[in-house]
Amino acid sequence: MEHTEFNNDLIEFLNASPTPWHAVSTMKSRLDAAGFQQLDEREEWALEQGRGYYAIRNGSSLIAFRTGKNDVVTSGIRMVGAHTDSPCLKVKPNPEIRRKGFFQLGVEVYGGVLLNPWFDRDLSLAGRVTVLDEDGKVRDTLVDFSKPVAIIPSLAIHLDREANSNRSVNAQTDLPPVVMQLPETDTTSFADLLREQLVSESGLKIRKVLGYELSFYDAQGASSVGLRQEFLASARLDNLLSCYIGLQSLLNTSGDEAALLVCNDHEEVGSMSAEGAQGPFLGAVLERWCGAGKGRAIARSMIISADNAHGVHPNFMDKHDENHGPILNQGPVIKVNHNQRYATNSRSAALYRHISDELGLPHQTFVVRSDMGCGSTIGPLTAGNLGVTTLDIGVPQFAMHSIREMIGSQDGYTLYQVLREFMQREEVF
Ligand SMILES: [Zn+2]
Repeated sequence: MEHTEFNNDLIEFLNASPTPWHAVSTMKSRLDAAGFQQLDEREEWALEQGRGYYAIRNGSSLIAFRTGKNDVVTSGIRMVGAHTDSPCLKVKPNPEIRRKGFFQLGVEVYGGVLLNPWFDRDLSLAGRVTVLDEDGKVRDTLVDFSKPVAIIPSLAIHLDREANSNRSVNAQTDLPPVVMQLPETDTTSFADLLREQLVSESGLKIRKVLGYELSFYDAQGASSVGLRQEFLASARLDNLLSCYIGLQSLLNTSGDEAALLVCNDHEEVGSMSAEGAQGPFLGAVLERWCGAGKGRAIARSMIISADNAHGVHPNFMDKHDENHGPILNQGPVIKVNHNQRYATNSRSAALYRHISDELGLPHQTFVVRSDMGCGSTIGPLTAGNLGVTTLDIGVPQFAMHSIREMIGSQDGYTLYQVLREFMQREEVF
């Protein structure tokens, strides 16, 4: 896969994946097309050498792996991890707000949303809905309104003269998006609107909407930006970019060695869930794959946890340590924090640098300013849970957790090349 094809396909992937459920469904169809076989956690697994498999939890977390040609216990597993979720606004269970003839939806803030950029954007709505179908069966389905259906209008500067110097956002009162206008007497519920959408979208015969997890998203798709197309802008680059890179690496690696991709939901809210990185999903899959040899296999394995890093912003240069400010388009960023907010150690970092050097590709290293706190990701959680050697790495980006984030157009492809090579390497250590 060459560079332009990679970026164009990335844009397609991002646009097809407005929620974790859609991201997993997009990955599933690509794995199916490549001959990977889906495993059901409720059934027994009979795994064969040289094959590809995947398992899905809650529809929003996915583990895909290649068994490789050799015994996994003595060859170890080359693992890559990422997360499927992004900060966003989720629709509340009883969301209807009717004021002055406007129909609005109450929203819950999911994760560390940068709220200001959500104003004045064309918003669409997507997620998972659980319905009672015509045959009386409870079933899940995905929904995506696809077009702009809502907006959160700003308050005009004339009505708030201090808007540029002193405006804060009250998440309860300022955020409910306007969805439509309705006569005072109209009692349409959100469930009615959802049902209508599902019927027109999938032709499903539905008796009742029983539950949903829906989030608003920017209707503007991903795009190349910059006079020379140096950049790529999109929602959810943190961390669908890494999901995409991990997936392409697994799909395009030789398949000779045991390799695995784990994409967890719920990273943005601490990862503690049945399908999150603090939960048992990865451990359970490894147990079934490696059996009694799991401990030995893990001792020979390594996971590269890929999650974006903060590039040094030209307008805010003092936010980085002078020697550790990653530049967009100068390579993926090895993330170091000896207080274990990142799980990188000198050994895992060395292996990455070595592979990257062999391929003639650039890399950078980040450590946070000593007078600032440090972010974290699934790396330390997976390291602590499994006891596996871990590297935290990520593509440098701007505007993390904004509704529209930005990366350099080179770095994703660079990380892909290194991870693909990592996944087909005979010796990890
Ligand atoms: Zn992230």
